[in-house]
Amino acid sequence: MATQHVRASELAGRDFDVVVVGAGFAGLYMLHRLRSFGFATVVIESADDVGGTWYWNRYPGARCDIESIDYSYSFDSELETEWQWSERYATQPEILRYLGHVADKHDLRRDIRFSTRVESATWDDASSRWHVRTDRGDELRCRFYVMATGCLSLPKTPDIPGFDRFRGETYFTGRWPHEGVDFSGQRVAVIGTGSSGIQSIPLIAQQAAELTVFQRTPNYSRPAYNGPVPAAKKATFDADPAAYRAAARLSLAGVPRERTLVRTFSVSAEERLAKFEEAYASGDLLALSTTFADLGADRAANETVCEFMRDKVRSIVRDPATAEALCPQGHFYGTKRPCIDTNYYETFNLSHVRLVDLRKEPIRTITETGIDTATRSFAFDAIVFATGFDAMTGPIVAVDVRGRNGESLAKKWAEGPKTYLGLMTAGFPNFFMITGPGSPSVLSNMVVSIEQHVDWVTACLDHMRTERLDVVEPTPVAEAGWLQHVNDCADITLYPTANSWYMGANVPGKPRVFLPYVGGVDRYRKTCDEVVNRGYLGFTFDGPGGGRCTDGVVNRLQLDVWTMLDLMQELGLPPIETLSVDHARAFSTMLASDRPPGPEVGDIVDGELPGPAGPLPYRRYRPPTRGPHPIVVYFHGGGWVLGGLDSDDPFCRDLCVKANAVVVSVNYRHAPEARFPAAADDGFAAVRWVAANAETLGGVPGRLAVCGWSAGGNIAAVVCQMARDAGGPRIAGQVLVTPVTDQDLTRASYVANGEGYVLTTALMRWFWDHYADPADRLQPKASPLRAKDLSGLPPALVVTCEFDPLRDEGAAYAEALARAGVDARHLGCRGQIHTSVPAVDVIRSAASAREEIGAALRGFFDAAGGQGQRGTMRATDEASPST
Ligand SMILES: Cc1cc2nc3c(=O)[nH]c(=O)nc-3n(C[C@H](O)[C@H](O)[C@H](O)COP(=O)(O)OP(=O)(O)OC[C@H]3O[C@@H](n4cnc5c(N)ncnc54)[C@H](O)[C@@H]3O)c2cc1C
Repeated sequence: MATQHVRASELAGRDFDVVVVGAGFAGLYMLHRLRSFGFATVVIESADDVGGTWYWNRYPGARCDIESIDYSYSFDSELETEWQWSERYATQPEILRYLGHVADKHDLRRDIRFSTRVESATWDDASSRWHVRTDRGDELRCRFYVMATGCLSLPKTPDIPGFDRFRGETYFTGRWPHEGVDFSGQRVAVIGTGSSGIQSIPLIAQQAAELTVFQRTPNYSRPAYNGPVPAAKKATFDADPAAYRAAARLSLAGVPRERTLVRTFSVSAEERLAKFEEAYASGDLLALSTTFADLGADRAANETVCEFMRDKVRSIVRDPATAEALCPQGHFYGTKRPCIDTNYYETFNLSHVRLVDLRKEPIRTITETGIDTATRSFAFDAIVFATGFDAMTGPIVAVDVRGRNGESLAKKWAEGPKTYLGLMTAGFPNFFMITGPGSPSVLSNMVVSIEQHVDWVTACLDHMRTERLDVVEPTPVAEAGWLQHVNDCADITLYPTANSWYMGANVPGKPRVFLPYVGGVDRYRKTCDEVVNRGYLGFTFDGPGGGRCTDGVVNRLQLDVWTMLDLMQELGLPPIETLSVDHARAFSTMLASDRPPGPEVGDIVDGELPGPAGPLPYRRYRPPTRGPHPIVVYFHGGGWVLGGLDSDDPFCRDLCVKANAVVVSVNYRHAPEARFPAAADDGFAAVRWVAANAETLGGVPGRLAVCGWSAGGNIAAVVCQMARDAGGPRIAGQVLVTPVTDQDLTRASYVANGEGYVLTTALMRWFWDHYADPADRLQPKASPLRAKDLSGLPPALVVTCEFDPLRDEGAAYAEALARAGVDARHLGCRGQIHTSVPAVDVIRSAASAREEIGAALRGFFDAAGGQGQRGTMRATDEASPST
């Protein structure tokens, strides 16, 4: 395999269609693809050959941790048969040979300039060209500048005092000598126990006379059970490679795999353990974290895997103190990239291997002869730094990239990277990143993500050529929207809780933001396709073909809402309004049967209270704290037709805990059996009875609020008006969650959201038809927004959701209350639908709204003795998700 060393003069002053930086998986495929579309392309690579990651990381034990069948190109169907992997997880030399083979087969090296580092790239507005400078002093021009520089290609400089003092040999796993290293007879230190450390330590231990491992953060690792490619997997693949690859492209992480809907605590402890054992024995990196649906988001669920893994460490490592030091603590499983290994923990049973726990005895300094910790001095012949990378953004900002008006990319990203789709960044025209921050990248099988990006970029360039467009750039609106979406998605997971390189936490001074996109390879691909299908939504183009821009934000729904809607669509559920009332009730009960139960409360008691037409069932929830407590009377949703004490049970538990209040959930009479105004009359009767019996219910007399969701919000609002008009009981506050406040089905939010977001216009019409005659609907007891006077009502929190037909009438009610002098607050929930807020532990992105509801209720109770603030409306438009 002959390596070309091209002189600087061969590049200087040349004008290309595209300059690509990097000749790893990404750069190689980018070159092949651009070439096949006829774009004059050059690749610049600082190494002296192809391979990228697999060129640099030659340390002992270096392998992929995604199975090689998956971790390989799909673009060339001949490769599927002509290249056979010798192992399930191929070694670095084999992967490097594979990439060399691809480069040879497609004659790629002739357009790659090796041993050349790009130092700067500057956009010239006048010529619509990038000027790219290399460390050889040459400058070349191009229309498009593509950084295929890798997510893990810039080794981090170790932040250890005295790092350059050591006089023995030092090695970096990410820059390993090509000729290899023989540690025989040596005293060796390895600093770092991330993936590279975990892979190399067992092999270094085989040679070294003494091996000392310095560990700051123990990682979760389990056996890879490497060996020949598993026969079953190979058979599936060989049967239809194209179908296999297609499934990978539409999977969560770029490896075909069923998504489970089973929650951790919905099975017994024995069943859970059996599932974990099965995943552990599979040797598959992704198996354990995908065992249950909620492991990535639920702390208690995740902790069950953490403890399972710690027990495995304890069962392998004989010395209890060493075992305990190797047990990861303080970060959830999967929030740092987990590892798979070969004999990692077993290595610590060898008499010449010892572990130094840096959390107990930190390194004071590296010396000329070894390492001093807080308590000891060690002498070494060699130190291996397995200290990781300045991930994702590092290699990009290491180049001085300047966009329009000389703006520096490093400066633009000083608070964290801002991209649109991880592909481009506003203000830097014609600049693309392959697997850039804000794309699935390191959370996926990277070859799948690389191919998707390369295909997308090539198609975009081809589109521009066809349409005679010279310049493309994302809009600030699209970029801000994407950043918000990336953060929203991360915020409903446990990822941001860890000090990981995903968060930039391993590099001192790097901003703490979650760098990759956690929404999944499948959703991400669909999003990129949608952007194209909507006329390159969020991109602005210019050129002889004319300027054009379809501005806007893609993916405005919260990720968990989107997931739920997809699932409902897959299930092909019938529209409720097409069912009989009995069927609709049975159906909604069935849908609610498998939900998470909501938090533990102190106790729950069912009872009956006297209603205007007979007894009304109620359910009382008492908080786990010592009473007496204030009381919330709660009215469930269901369009006055559906629902009952069970339907909103998790939400009532949540309210009880968050508001630290007794919750009395009232089952009012339903339509069509009892039409308007039965529900309102029952609601008012219930509030009066609860107020009169507060003490018996465990409540504090005089401290009573009302809350309701949807039609229950309607009842709560109406009850407040009835109580005011009747002179009591005194209500400390009202929380109206996506309430019905008016019978008008033509508002803008109905037009925009009347279909596709669970509560439809057709369903709302069905509810109204069952509940009230058209003339009655205009009465304030049905449409509280129509009340002539809204003054003197209790302080209110009105919660609305962006994709809810009822959004505008909720907002209108909050405004009308404020205009009437009521202390009313409007909380608008971004990316949420009508059913989001009560969906406790299902729609985690609405958790912050639930927090705010709890806080509002507590505030009402605190203020119950005084008058409170009057006549103001405070709007909070963005309830952002939180865990
Ligand atoms: C040890 C290790 C194991 C991994 N295992 C897996 C795995 O099992 N599965 C998986 O999905 N991912 C894995 N990864 C991630 C891996 O980085 C990607 O899978 C993939 O190899 C990235 O390819 P790339 O072409 O995007 O980047 P790289 O392979 O990193 O190539 C980027 C290239 O750009 C060059 N470059 C950077 N800056 C400049 C510059 N300014 N001028 C010139 N050249 C420049 C670099 O020299 C490098 O050769 C692993 C990473 C490491 C470090």
